[in-house]
Amino acid sequence: FSRIEETESKLNAYITVEKEKSIEAAKLKDRELEKLSETEIPDLFGIPLSIKDNILVEGQKMTCASKMLKDFIAPYDATVIKKLREKGAIFIGKNNLDEFAMGSSTETSFFGVTRNPWDLERVPGGSSGGSAAAVAARSALASLGSDTGGSIRQPCSLCGVVGMKPTYGRVSRYGLTAFASSLDQIGPITKNIEDNAFLLNIISGLDSKDATSAKLPVPNYLEALDNEIKGLKAGLPKEYFIEGIDPEVKEKVMEAAKTLEKLGVEVEEISLPHTSYAVETYYIIAPAEASSNLGRFDGVRYTYRAKEYTDLIDMYCKTRAEGFGNEVKRRIMIGTYTLSAGYYDAYYLKAQKVRTLIYQDFQNAFEKVDFIVTPVSPTTAFKIGEKTDDPIKMYLSDIFTIAVNLAGLPGLSMPCGFDSKGLPVGVQLIGKAFDEETLYSVGYKLE
Ligand code: GLN
Repeated sequence: FSRIEETESKLNAYITVEKEKSIEAAKLKDRELEKLSETEIPDLFGIPLSIKDNILVEGQKMTCASKMLKDFIAPYDATVIKKLREKGAIFIGKNNLDEFAMGSSTETSFFGVTRNPWDLERVPGGSSGGSAAAVAARSALASLGSDTGGSIRQPCSLCGVVGMKPTYGRVSRYGLTAFASSLDQIGPITKNIEDNAFLLNIISGLDSKDATSAKLPVPNYLEALDNEIKGLKAGLPKEYFIEGIDPEVKEKVMEAAKTLEKLGVEVEEISLPHTSYAVETYYIIAPAEASSNLGRFDGVRYTYRAKEYTDLIDMYCKTRAEGFGNEVKRRIMIGTYTLSAGYYDAYYLKAQKVRTLIYQDFQNAFEKVDFIVTPVSPTTAFKIGEKTDDPIKMYLSDIFTIAVNLAGLPGLSMPCGFDSKGLPVGVQLIGKAFDEETLYSVGYKLE
């Protein structure tokens, strides 16, 4: 908490800090400890964690960085929180994000921008920018984020920390505020690979409360760290090293690929031919799902309601006009449009078909290679305000992360050096579905 106090006036990485409750919980644990033998102490006993503020932690505020939910108190724990709590974790606060996780810079938060600890004039990335900044600044030991199109991986890259977007279905989404339900996944944001594997072990697995969670055994990711990587095959997709990528980012990612070769990995060029359609496809599918998911914020359920209105429809309209920020409204309008009769076939259905082609690209690639190496973000951290007037420019920040969500695959983002401004550069390792193990074992040796 003293580290949080030291850094928060500069960073704004937290929306809520639960100091009293946490200290109380820690004292209770202290007393419990006396009764436990060493082997009975749970894995996360007394370990402080912070959580992205779109995940429910019972009794704590959950705002989604929106005016719409600014006073909402979570009535129950998300499944991931329940699992961590059972292992003894203490939840010290909620991290800032782009409103409803829509953004790549944490600038759309109702509670103000989070700053990048490496350079306070720059964004931490987004939407899990508060989580990544807090872990980078050591005002959190670890955090959980959510990733719909890059929201764990891109901020981790911009802040120089480790983030895993697990395979779709690996981790329960119960208690995560839905943005685009066919793309969203929760994952750990940590200082290093080992902590990351440790947390994924705990939060993964089938959940009866999430019908899309996978009925598959969860491997031990910590044990996977020591798996042999000599002889593995890695692919470098040529479509990811294109014009528009910062040459320094490219150089560092290529250096990481060279290091892999030295470690005995065979690196070859591959092709993912539909890559250039990923951003367009995502910005049809994600807003379509969002426009439906956000229908629940109607001024009746949840907390915010406009003060003055004439009738029910007027109440809905005013509540939503006042409660949502511009980016959220933009997404709702795009989504409503692409789902409407007459446009559905031309946009939504077409996008779903392209999504399948993107998925098949990866399937074809994984016939030849065990994992794929790419940059996470085309640039290092950009200046606050630099992209806020141009949504398309902002959307392109996720050009290297979005296809992974469309295909439902796991993606690990980890630091691989610094640019000449001293800003961290990240590399992304993309794996086969449910093969987080390979990503961790490779990442561990690359670290
Ligand atoms: N930046 C992307 C968007 O704005 C992805 C966000 C996310 O992964 N939650 O939609």
